[in-house]
Amino acid sequence: MAHAFDTRTLDILRSALDRMDQGFSSLPGTGAHEPDREAIERVLLEVAERLQDNFPYFHPLYAGQMLKPPHPVARLAYALATWINPNNHALDGGRASSRMEKEAVAEIASMFKWETHLGHLCGGGTVANLEALWVAGRERPGKTVLASSMAHYTHARMSAVLGLPFESVPCDADGRMDMRALELRLARGAVGAVVCSIGTTGTGSVDPLPAILELREKHGFRIHADAAYGGYFILADNLGVPARAAFDRLSEVDSIVIDPHKHGLQPYGCGCVLFRDPAVGRFYQHDSPYTYFSSTELHLGEISLECSRPGAAAVALWATQRMFPLARGGEFARSLANGRAAALDLYARLRADRRFVTSRSEPELDIVVWAPRGPSVSEASAEARRIFEEAARSNLHLALAALPVELFALEEAGMKIDQPNVTCLRSVLMKPEHREWVGRIWDILDRVAG
Ligand SMILES: *Cc1c(COP(=O)(O)O)cnc(C)c1O
Repeated sequence: MAHAFDTRTLDILRSALDRMDQGFSSLPGTGAHEPDREAIERVLLEVAERLQDNFPYFHPLYAGQMLKPPHPVARLAYALATWINPNNHALDGGRASSRMEKEAVAEIASMFKWETHLGHLCGGGTVANLEALWVAGRERPGKTVLASSMAHYTHARMSAVLGLPFESVPCDADGRMDMRALELRLARGAVGAVVCSIGTTGTGSVDPLPAILELREKHGFRIHADAAYGGYFILADNLGVPARAAFDRLSEVDSIVIDPHKHGLQPYGCGCVLFRDPAVGRFYQHDSPYTYFSSTELHLGEISLECSRPGAAAVALWATQRMFPLARGGEFARSLANGRAAALDLYARLRADRRFVTSRSEPELDIVVWAPRGPSVSEASAEARRIFEEAARSNLHLALAALPVELFALEEAGMKIDQPNVTCLRSVLMKPEHREWVGRIWDILDRVAG
């Protein structure tokens, strides 16, 4: 039996714990009872049984949704920190981990070429976007938030939470925000912020930031870049021309969200929000009566909507970036480029095969979407669901997505358009191994597509 999980690094955790322990050797014993090993083991083995009921997210044959295993260094650093369990709300709750958070976040900011910034980690992309839109709403009270029809669905929800009007802007046939439609909407006025998706969740499409920046000159709105999924691709050296042009001007936006728990090798619970202008810190006035006694430095809890936050997440991110610096040409950058190369490989195979209709444009990041060819959109959608299930029985896990028919050249393929959306197949090739696995993924797909 092949082992699915790496356990060879577990002994490093023990030696790191021993090292950490040395820092507290002057303390008297706590007198705490020995934990009940047998009870712990009993429960843990039960947990292990229950967790078998999962798709194999960590395996390259899981090529469906956005799931990438944390790097062992992140997993171990996270576990190590839980023995201290620091709270990065304030320096009093976690001195070392708060400093590590500031360092790790500054490294992310400098990946986007921001020498100064205000920013921090948070629970994930949704909360990070909430915070960015909250600041946008404070800067432009009552003004409308715009995002494309392919933007993450939580922008509308979070705008509602904030009491800000929200409108969606149509996309073009490549899944990018339609600039003509944006211009028409801007002409009607009262727009406070435009969300620019730097990699949509559905197709990885990158909105045309240079054109949006040009419109900002005239209309003066804020630009929030939702780079929750795509942000790290700024490091990749094999992007297409439009995507590269967008990434090259990312430093000109007002705020950026990036999810270390998507492409940054972190366990869940690690999003990041960054503001270009540190002066937005003035919006976070608070009057917490019981924290902040240990220093006059700005505490992370003073520039964050959340109060308690896991110091362990910051420790894990810091350790990962120590091992894999966020540098172009580095190992981490290469693994992102490999993901895009894998997507282009799969796209080319699908395109050359008459059984499938690919998206009109090639993948901008590492996400591929395609539809089975059929007499009509509804029949093709049913076939996509069949392939999805059949592939899963062969251990290949893809995803399904309902996408606008305009993204695919369906009419040209002789298909009857009998519904506005097509249920298509979607594959996110984000694991470091995927470059090597496209051939095997294709073999299974080829077989189950019949
Ligand atoms: C995943 C994602 C989000 C939401 O982030 P969570 O971490 O899941 O809360 C927002 N925007 C984009 C583009 C995403 O891909």
